[in-house]
Amino acid sequence: MATKRDYYVVLGVSKTASADEIKKAYRKLAMQFHPDRNPNDKDAAEKFKEASEAYEVLSDEAKRQRYDQYGHEGVKSSFGSGGFDFGRDFTHMQDIDLQDILGSVFGGGLGDMFGGGGGGGRRRSRNPNEPQRGNDLRFDLEIDFEEAAFGSERQVDLTVNDTCETCKGAGTAEGSSRESCKQCNGHGFVVQGNGFFQMRHACPICNGEGSIVKNPCRKCQGTGRIKAPRHITLKIPKGVETGSRLRLTGKGESGSRGGEHGDLYVVLHVRDHEVFERHGDDLACNVHVSPVLATLGGDIDVPTPEGYARLKLPAGTSTGKVFRLRDKGMPSLQGGNGDLHVRIEVEVPQNLGSGQRKALEAFAATLTPDNFPEARKFQKQTDRFFERRDALRRMK
Ligand SMILES: [Zn+2]
Ligand SMILES: [Zn+2]
Repeated sequence: MATKRDYYVVLGVSKTASADEIKKAYRKLAMQFHPDRNPNDKDAAEKFKEASEAYEVLSDEAKRQRYDQYGHEGVKSSFGSGGFDFGRDFTHMQDIDLQDILGSVFGGGLGDMFGGGGGGGRRRSRNPNEPQRGNDLRFDLEIDFEEAAFGSERQVDLTVNDTCETCKGAGTAEGSSRESCKQCNGHGFVVQGNGFFQMRHACPICNGEGSIVKNPCRKCQGTGRIKAPRHITLKIPKGVETGSRLRLTGKGESGSRGGEHGDLYVVLHVRDHEVFERHGDDLACNVHVSPVLATLGGDIDVPTPEGYARLKLPAGTSTGKVFRLRDKGMPSLQGGNGDLHVRIEVEVPQNLGSGQRKALEAFAATLTPDNFPEARKFQKQTDRFFERRDALRRMK
């Protein structure tokens, strides 16, 4: 990839833009370059990714400050550090709105994924004895279109690092305790260099903990944590789409020294559907009609998420004609529904019997160019093209 563009330039806002302006600018770009709206468009996908990344940083006060001060380098480490690379490829315009709605579902709710405070477990606290928050976890879940349309409840089983019950997370065998690290005298860091430039490094012996386990707990080998199965009931609200993230507060890894649990992010992937194609909250489907019905007009029944709806087909409807049925699309997370776009496809009859063939030929004998205005128009355009071509040739 070429050099990174300035995040403010990417979003088209000034350096002093308010949080609201940034959000608005991002939303506009996200709508414009959203992959759903630009299928197979690499350029749009790249722009969408770029805008999302810029938004991740500029929408977070702490990150924005670091970016202002140090540029891209200042926020580089915030992506994907600590082993869980969530967010990078799953930035989604829906995240902005999801949090309000899901807040009520999950109590603590789906918070601002990139907000400050979260992910603290990845940072080493200065005081090695300070409680440390557990890591956030990401879990990818594929769901059916129907689940996204009507909401569902899913049982999710996963394995997470949890506090070892035997040693209560201390990592030490019963009757023993942690001993102060001799290398760093319990400070958790060592100082290197001399004179003016001194650098603090996490102590390599105790990994910055300040203390070491001499007599480790056998259950967890002294780590204080064990892999434990976790069973989670996940409520999926209707209206979610691919890239929607649900945050389950406190369902991530356990913290150490009494630190709180991290959060669990469930990233949803909605499977494609054989009837409905989704574009945000709008749905599209192809409906096949006979040439007779398309010619004469009449009522047809078209599928919607809530059942069949009647559509009045005007006489003379050709393939490709799209009818919009208001509020018959996907339920929206914000309430209400998107629209349903019904695309008419005239199906040419197959397997004609000889009687049918004769009837059709008799009918064909009655047709005149007046019956095909589009073909007639095309013919005129073609004639004009050849006239002009021949005129040019004569001039030579
Ligand atoms: Zn243990
Ligand atoms: Zn040490």
